[in-house]
This record gives sequence, structure tokens and C-alpha cells, in this order.
Amino acid sequence: MSKLRFRVVERAFKKKAVEVPTPAARPSEYYAMYVFNREKMFKYLPSKVYEKLIDVIDNGATLDRNIANDVAKGMKNWAMEMGVTHYTHWFHPLTEGTAEKHDAFVEHDGKGGVLEEFSGKLLVQQEPDASSFPNGGIRNTFEARGYTAWDPSSPAFIIDDTLCIPTIFISYTGESLDYKAPLLKSLHAVNTAALDVCRYFYSDVKKVFTNLGWEQEYFLIDEDLYAARPDLLLTGRTLMGHDSAKNQQLEDHYFGAIPMRVASFMKDLEIEALKLGIPVKTRHNEVAPNQFELAPIFEECNLAIDHNMLVMSLMRKISRRHGFRLLLHEKPFKGVNGSGKHNNWSLGTDTGVLLMAPGKTQEENLRFITFVVNSLMAVYRHNGLLKASISSATNAHRLGANEAPPAIISSFLGKQLSQVLDYIESSDKDELVNVAAKTGLKLDIPHIPELMIDNTDRNRTSPFAFTGNRFEFRAVGSEANCASAMIALNTAVAEQLIFFKKDVDMLIAKGEPKISAILDVIRKYIKICKPIHFDGNGYSDEWKEEAARRGLDCETSVPLIFDNYLKPESVAMFETAGVMTKKELQARNEVKWETYTKKIQIESRVLGDLAMNHIVPVATQYQTDLINNVSQLKNLYPDGKWQKLSAKNLELIEEIAEHTAYIKEHVDSMVESRKAANRIDHEREKAIAYHDNIAPMLDEIRYHIDKLELIVDNEMWTLPKYRELLFIR
Ligand code: ADP
Ligand code: MG
Repeated sequence: MSKLRFRVVERAFKKKAVEVPTPAARPSEYYAMYVFNREKMFKYLPSKVYEKLIDVIDNGATLDRNIANDVAKGMKNWAMEMGVTHYTHWFHPLTEGTAEKHDAFVEHDGKGGVLEEFSGKLLVQQEPDASSFPNGGIRNTFEARGYTAWDPSSPAFIIDDTLCIPTIFISYTGESLDYKAPLLKSLHAVNTAALDVCRYFYSDVKKVFTNLGWEQEYFLIDEDLYAARPDLLLTGRTLMGHDSAKNQQLEDHYFGAIPMRVASFMKDLEIEALKLGIPVKTRHNEVAPNQFELAPIFEECNLAIDHNMLVMSLMRKISRRHGFRLLLHEKPFKGVNGSGKHNNWSLGTDTGVLLMAPGKTQEENLRFITFVVNSLMAVYRHNGLLKASISSATNAHRLGANEAPPAIISSFLGKQLSQVLDYIESSDKDELVNVAAKTGLKLDIPHIPELMIDNTDRNRTSPFAFTGNRFEFRAVGSEANCASAMIALNTAVAEQLIFFKKDVDMLIAKGEPKISAILDVIRKYIKICKPIHFDGNGYSDEWKEEAARRGLDCETSVPLIFDNYLKPESVAMFETAGVMTKKELQARNEVKWETYTKKIQIESRVLGDLAMNHIVPVATQYQTDLINNVSQLKNLYPDGKWQKLSAKNLELIEEIAEHTAYIKEHVDSMVESRKAANRIDHEREKAIAYHDNIAPMLDEIRYHIDKLELIVDNEMWTLPKYRELLFIR
């Protein structure tokens, strides 16, 4: 009998919410108390140094090494007042997590004692002694050095006793080994390109910011139940488990009352997040049982991404204070919704204009249309690449499943915006100029005084939806670093805006007035990028056929989707924008393929182990019970009546035999397939083999395990079931 399972279920069931004291101060008072923000810079830095640093942060001025010492000293003084003893460069390697190596401030004082030291040199640059970060062959062992370099645009912060300094991570030869370096380059590219286009409309704009507001979905599972599920522990998802009779069909979880233990966790998390200057705002239950969401107010993209990485690690840590484990996997449970990370993305100016929001004047609405249409063009031209930017072994379970954006990138615009674009497309130049002279016409773009785009016009099935003043990239995985998606999107939009400017300037050079030239180019673009626009049901099979007809990327194999990064047009785009070189792209793809392989490999091993040492033994034991029952019936009724009485059990005995035989055989052939795949040298081909030959076996074997779960005596079953995992909270 499976005593352990009942014990953990009982223990989990009895847990009460952990009390979280409400801070005496208000959020506005403790907000960013652990952040070396401008207020602290002003207080702890000499005024000249403060001004120079702000110039670096705001205007991208080059960092003067001479000020680094003063900044380091100010940071150290502040941190030590906060009880900090260590510092670390904090960076985002090509894993899903962050990396840090802590060093104490202590140095010899030359008199036999120690003192606290932190120099500008240590602030600006370090050489992590770590040759085992994913690097795709860029860092061969003979040149294993990598550098982390300070990113002053994201403020330092304190976690426990450690001062954390956000940094980029690059190789000795200058290639990026992380997400942040190319992200910063892509933000620079989009700023430059968008600024040029802004000049058509405004003379006072000096900088264009990329905004990101992410919405983070996640699951919480009681930690006792979690510990009894080796598959969750090792792979982040359940590799087996029959549907619970009740799951999300009653739609009673979404926006429902937050369970008490979870509410305590959220309160705890939010207080810690606010102290770290993360403007968390929204919390609610999500669609699946035990699934929740957290969203802050949007911020500048680089900062927003650092904050998302920070929030994910805070969640992981704080969930444990509440007896939970955090599941960030995109699909921890079959049959209920998976988790994503909606990336609300927009461009804004230093003068406070949201470039994808309609305005009050003719010029502003033309600016609005300009940025929206160019974004659509970028997404159209690089739809395969954008899909690659969000693809992973784990997110593949979610894409294309019935609750998530499909594995085809398209854009939802809503009725109003669609009408506006149709109108521009179908109107000829003279008509538009005439319309512009009038007022009050329903769709007199670009002259309508105030264009209100209805934000409630939603379509949950679209991977890239326009939502009033921004686009919402919904296909991003819950576990992913948002930077991957943002790098691709920013670079594609930067490239597109450069093309746009060229096209418009050419017409202007030929003597066409500016407005008319802009409209001409936009009209042409609206026609070209039409295939990306789809307001219908993205989950439907008709859409898959339609999308293929439209020439959109419909590939579903993740290893093949990654090929998009190395297409000539992608390489040209990244290289021209100065975001990544071909060599970097190749190296990154090696990492992606390798990671894909390893994830499937681990899942396959875990499933094989569990199948052979949890499932088959238990099923066989139950089968033996049935056999004993049959033979005893036979003893009792030797006359033949035993056969009738044993009919059902005989059926079950055979069923169990069939399932266990299937499982054994297929676990064996899965091992053989793995061996064959492991012999392949090329990472791409190996990943393809894992995708084509091994991943499908996981589902096939699971099917039979889940059938056994329905048959075998509940008392014997060792692994906590879905009904326990998902409903005890
Ligand atoms: P939902 O999409 O669930 O309705 P909200 O409308 O509250 O959620 O917004 C989700 C996220 O979008 C939040 O982080 C919010 O700050 C962000 N957001 C709102 N406006 C913009 C914008 N113009 N650019 C980027 N993000 C934005
Ligand atoms: Mg949303």
C-alpha cells in the first residue's frame, strides 16, 4: 500500500496559510528601499559624479572609468548601511535563470586585519571563472575567459546580504554569451530607427523607449505533493497522470477568490517585490486550478526584463516559505491550461508620447498608423523568426494546444483598427487629402480629431494582438527570459522603420509632400503585410490551412523552427542592426538545439525510470491480487461458475498485461532510440532526432500509464494524482 502518498496528501490538506504581517509603512514608503536608484545615487554620490552617471543612464554617454571608483564607493557605503557584506555581478546566461557569484567586500588591510573594499574596477568588469555556461562553442576551453560588464541602465539592488550589479556577459573576443547584451543593442537599434521616423511628426523628441509590461502566469503546488512526484521535481512537469474528473470545465477558478495560502504567498511576494522597486500591480487566479498570474506596471524594456527575472527567483524563494513549490513550466499538467508570459510591448518617447496610441490630431493619428503598420510589416516579414524567438522544448506543449496561441504568428487588430487600415488601403491619394480637409467623417483618417481604439475588443487566440496602445506578444513562454522575444521584435521593427524612412524619403525627394508620401508608403505596406492580419479563431483547423496558403511559417518542429535564426534575411537583419553577428547566431542556435535535446533526454529518462520502478511493479502487484482472487474463486466454485464470476477480473488481468507489456517494450525501444540519437554529432540533427523519434514516445507510453492509473487499486498507486496535485492548496 502506498502509505507515503496518503501521508503527504493528508499533510498537504491540513496546511494553513502562513501569516504575513502587514508592514507598518505604506508601499510608497518602502518601494525600492533595496535599490540604488536616483534618490540614493543623489545622496551617496558626489554631485559631479551623480550628473555624469545620469548622463550615462539617460543619454547613453560612455562611462568614464574615473567615475566608477566614486560610484563604487557610494554604492558600497549605501549597501553597508543596509547590512550588506557581499557583492555580485548578476547576469542572464543562455539558460532560463540568472547567474551570480558572490564575493565579500573584505580585503587585507596590510596590518593583519581586513577592511571593506569595493573598487570601480570590480564594479565595472569581472571575469567569472565559469567555463560551463552554455556558449555554443564560442568559448572553447583554451579560451574560456568571459567578462561581465556593468549595465548602468539597470540599477543595482540588494538581495539578502548581497549587492547585485546587473551586467552583460561577453566572451573574451566580444561575442555575447547572454540575453542582455543583444537586448541592449536591439533597444539602441529601435531607438535610433524610431527616432528618425518620429522626426516626421515631432521636432522635440530626443529618445524613443521600448516599453514592456509582462504578465507572468504560474502554478503553485504543495511542496509535500511535489516531493512525491519525481517527474515534477526533475522536469518541471508531470510526465504522467490521468485527468482529474473535475479540472477547469466549470471555469470556477479564473478570477475566483484567491485561496488563503496563496493569498498569503502573494502578499509576501508583493511586499518583497515592491522593496526591490518592481511595480507589481495585478494578481488573480488563472484559468487552470492552482494557476495564478502576476503583472506589474509596464517599464522600460531592459528594466522590465531584469525585474521579470528577479520576480521569478523571488517567487521560487517565497513560495517555499509558504510550503509551496513554484512551477514555471509552460505545461505542467496535461488537460488544463498551460502558462505563458504575455509581453505587452510598445514604443514611447521622452516627451511622453506612446507611439502606438492614437492621438487627437491629424499628425498624431498618422504617426499612430505609421508605427502600427510598420510593426505589422516587421512581424509579417519575420514571422518565422519571431516564432523561433519564443520556441522551446517546454513552450512547444503550449503552442498549438487548445488554450494557447497557435504555432503560427499572426496579428489581431480588432474591428476598428481593421476598418481604419482598410479605409486607407482602398482610398486613393486625392481622396485622403480631401478627407483630411474635412472634419467629422467617421473614418476620416488621418483627420479625425480623436480616434478611440476600443481596448475591450479582445481576441485571446492571437499570438500578437493589438490592444489599444500596444501589441501584446502572447506566445512567450512562462519560463522564458522575455529578452529572447524582445530582441527579435525590436530588431525586426528597427529594420522595418529604416526601410520605411528610405521609402518615404525617396518619394519626398521626388517632390511629393511629406504627408502624402507617408500615406503612399503606408498604403503599400498595408497591402503587403495583409497575410499577417487575422482576427478570427487562431485555434481552428481552417486557420492552419489558411495560414499555409498565406505563406506564413507553419512549422511545428521546434528544432526546425530554430532554423529561422540562420535564414539569410534574419542574419542580415541582426548584422545590419548591430545586434548579433552570424557567428553569435550560429552559437546560440547550437545552444538552443542542445538544450532542446537535453530537455527531452531528461524527460525520457525520468519517464523510463518511473514507468519501470513505480508503475509496472504496482500494476503487476495489483494484477497478482486479481489473479489470486480468480484462483480462489476457482477453488470455491470448481464447477464452472467461477468463470462467470471472474469474467471482469480476467478482463482486467489481460488489460493490465497488455498495458505493462506495451510500457516495457516501448521503454526499451525509447532507450534504443536515445542511444541512436546520442551517436549523432551535429546538435541540429540530434535535436531533430529527439523531436521526431523520442518526444512522441513520451506521449505514447504515458497513454498506457494513465490507463493503468484508472484500473489499479487507488491504495497501491504511489504517485499523487491530478485530483490531489491540483486541488489541495
Ligand atoms: P490584461 O491584458 O490582462 O487586460 P492589463 O491591461 O492590466 O492586462 O495590462 C497588462 C500589462 O500591460 C501591464 O503590465 C500594463 O502595465 C501593460 N501595459 C499597459 N499599457 C502598456 C503600453 N502602452 N505599453 C506596454 N505595456 C503596457
Ligand atoms: Mg493581457
